[in-house]
Amino acid sequence: MKVILFGAPGSGKGTQAVMLSDFLRVKRISLGDIFREEVKKGSDLGIQVKSFMDKGELVPDELVHRVIAQCLNDENFILDGYPRNLSQAQELDVILGKKGKAIDLCIYLDIDGQIIIDRLSKRRVCKKCGANYHLENMIPKEDNVCDVCQGELFQRDDDKIDVIKKRWEVFISRSQELLAFYEQKGNLLKVDGSGNKDNVFARIKSNLSCSKH
Ligand code: AMP
Repeated sequence: MKVILFGAPGSGKGTQAVMLSDFLRVKRISLGDIFREEVKKGSDLGIQVKSFMDKGELVPDELVHRVIAQCLNDENFILDGYPRNLSQAQELDVILGKKGKAIDLCIYLDIDGQIIIDRLSKRRVCKKCGANYHLENMIPKEDNVCDVCQGELFQRDDDKIDVIKKRWEVFISRSQELLAFYEQKGNLLKVDGSGNKDNVFARIKSNLSCSKH
């Protein structure tokens, strides 16, 4: 299956993408992770994308297209955080079309803006293994220390409140036309993204089995 997981920053799409890729046994492709890795390495690409990421803006499509074209060689995959606007969705169709492939499903995690702000501003991430915590709902056993690998926890620059607001605005301004694009194709699946990760995942799974019938 070729699946897109689409949702606002903080909608839980990353968490759900990991759970879904384990469940379906397919590769997860996250452009956000790829870009963060490049920034960490200090590569040319990392230097080019950093300023956009720090401001909560989308990386220009031209750079995104170049990176994504190299990632779509598997038969099945879950795209986490791509496409994020109409031009990316169209480009994705072109890239896949050349290989005789197409997206099967776009899952949209629908969630309220206020929940997003709360989730992101209180999110903490492990520097070493990338595990996510929340200052109220998923508290590490020891302050600022990862339960999994004992790495130090930090707040992503783009999880600071001003940047969150900017990312939300960017999301709202781009999402409608993207959702309409997949709705017209008949492969949009809207899932309520509120509640804990297991509830959301159960909703995704039950919708998946319905859409297979
Ligand atoms: P994420 O971890 O998916 O929230 O992505 C973090 C940041 O990476 C975003 O705020 C953007 O700056 C950049 N980014 C990730 N995916 C894309 C994309 N599909 N198009 C443009 N920028 C992206």
